[in-house]
Amino acid sequence: MKETSEQWYKEWQAKKSSVKKQNKKFINKLAQHKGKRLDVFADEIDERTFKKVDCLQCANCCSSIPPIVNNTDVNRIAKHLGMKPQEFEDTYLMIDEDQDKVMKTTPCTFLQEDNMCSIYEVRPKACREYPHTGSQEFSNNLHLHAPNAFYCPAVFHILEEMKKNIPV
Ligand code: SF4
Ligand code: SF4
Repeated sequence: MKETSEQWYKEWQAKKSSVKKQNKKFINKLAQHKGKRLDVFADEIDERTFKKVDCLQCANCCSSIPPIVNNTDVNRIAKHLGMKPQEFEDTYLMIDEDQDKVMKTTPCTFLQEDNMCSIYEVRPKACREYPHTGSQEFSNNLHLHAPNAFYCPAVFHILEEMKKNIPV
């Protein structure tokens, strides 16, 4: 693990539980800043953060959060695996409490020992977009960031930097 990445990972592990309430409060107040300016700022922090965090040394999202798999994902992944869409659904998916189709197993079946995704080229949209902090997506996914900071060291550090820079 890169030195910075390792330090950041340890800091996240040590503090992720204790900042849960604080992050929830911060995000609630941040709602009044929703919009283009916040998204541009988030994009800058997101880019800096992902230069320091090494996802291949982490894979905590793939190990802990079952991704939503939409119908377009089902067709694409099933084709890639040489399966019928229904066969893919029956084998790998289940319906969660929000009535979304999600991966059945956690850690994800497609997560390999080296933390690579065995279906990376055709992975679900939700996996491609996680953790929704960059690409002008921050404001639209505001409600996800506080819970995600518990699972994702990158989101944790993005919120830490925001708390230092945005007086809410
Ligand atoms: S499909 Fe791939 S990227 Fe998505 S959770 Fe599974 S291993 Fe991770
Ligand atoms: S939890 Fe966050 S830092 Fe870890 S692999 Fe997933 S996106 Fe990368």
